Amino acid sequence: MDQIRTSYSALDTFKQCPLRYKYQQIDRIRTPKNKDAVFGNKIHTALEYFHSKTPCSPTLDELLNKLKEIWDSEVFQNEQEDILYFSEAIKILKNYHSSFSQIKEKPAILGTETRFEILLEKNDKKATLSGIIDRIDKTSQGIEIVDYKTAKRLPSQQDIDNSLQLSLYCLGLMKRWPEFKLKDISLSFYFLKHQEKLTTTRTKEQLDLVKEKVFDDLEKIEKSNFKPTPTPLCDWCGYKKMCPMWRHLYKKELTVDDEQIKKIANEYFELKQENSKNNKRLNELKIIIENYLNKEKIERVFTDQVYITRSYLTKYEYDFDKLKEILEPLNKWNNILTINITKLKNIIKALPYPKRKEIEKIKKKSKEYSMLNIKKKRN
Ligand code: SF4
Repeated sequence: MDQIRTSYSALDTFKQCPLRYKYQQIDRIRTPKNKDAVFGNKIHTALEYFHSKTPCSPTLDELLNKLKEIWDSEVFQNEQEDILYFSEAIKILKNYHSSFSQIKEKPAILGTETRFEILLEKNDKKATLSGIIDRIDKTSQGIEIVDYKTAKRLPSQQDIDNSLQLSLYCLGLMKRWPEFKLKDISLSFYFLKHQEKLTTTRTKEQLDLVKEKVFDDLEKIEKSNFKPTPTPLCDWCGYKKMCPMWRHLYKKELTVDDEQIKKIANEYFELKQENSKNNKRLNELKIIIENYLNKEKIERVFTDQVYITRSYLTKYEYDFDKLKEILEPLNKWNNILTINITKLKNIIKALPYPKRKEIEKIKKKSKEYSMLNIKKKRN
């Protein structure tokens, strides 16, 4: 029986970039500490300290002293960057301390940095998922899971309602404390930079789907060819210098071929630009010629070398149902149906998960081809 150990963060890494997942989870390549990850970690540790001292929470001075004690200046490039991050951390903790102090009915903290493991089973496959819940509160309304986020971007409520991370945390909590009822559990992301808490809940049906989602993700990983998927998040990826999407940028000793390809790529770019300039000018000329034809009430113009004739194209549309009535008995209906992939993608996005999955299963690779996309480098 196959058994795999994984975590939400590993599944999320695969979603962001399959190659990054491979480097991290399969090849186990270690990377230097990332300053943003360290920053987030220090804030988490300070907040864990803050809530571990209940019922008498530490004063603001005590909290900031804790931050100073655990701060790691070494990950920052220079003193200026270090000061910038440290000031941001102080701001976050001051705001957090102030807003928590103002809560009249304070929650009872049941746990901070609580580890959990859940076992999911499907057919002959088993997956153990582990994670750490930042904070578990007992409030007058029930139980609340709080996960701190230091990200700048606030997600939508729909993102929170569909968050796999919160669903897994909910399952983790119920495994550890089976006496908690689902209807009493709320799940929150606390965005520290915005001091905003976004909260959601889960139904039993939603939690039942988690198993499906996890095994679908694991299947995708199993079948993956781990292609790099560059996004703005690459700036936070420790594998950037070795990744085939970026390695060329960091190449130090250049061969003749390397020098040559730089010239070729620049020429390619210039020709492409010229093409788009030409297309723009061609459109302008077309409008001028058409205006002239209209003014002169003629359909053709002559020069010494060429003549240009206007021709007309008409587009028709048909009554879909009536056309089907005629063509279907002739076995010709299927021949004219083509799927508009862009429209289909948009429709799939809005479908419930089981339907999306059904469609995913019937998807087949029809053709793979490469394209060259060209962009100007940011300086
Ligand atoms: S640098 Fe970007 S594309 Fe390359 S592995 Fe990292 S995340 Fe993926």
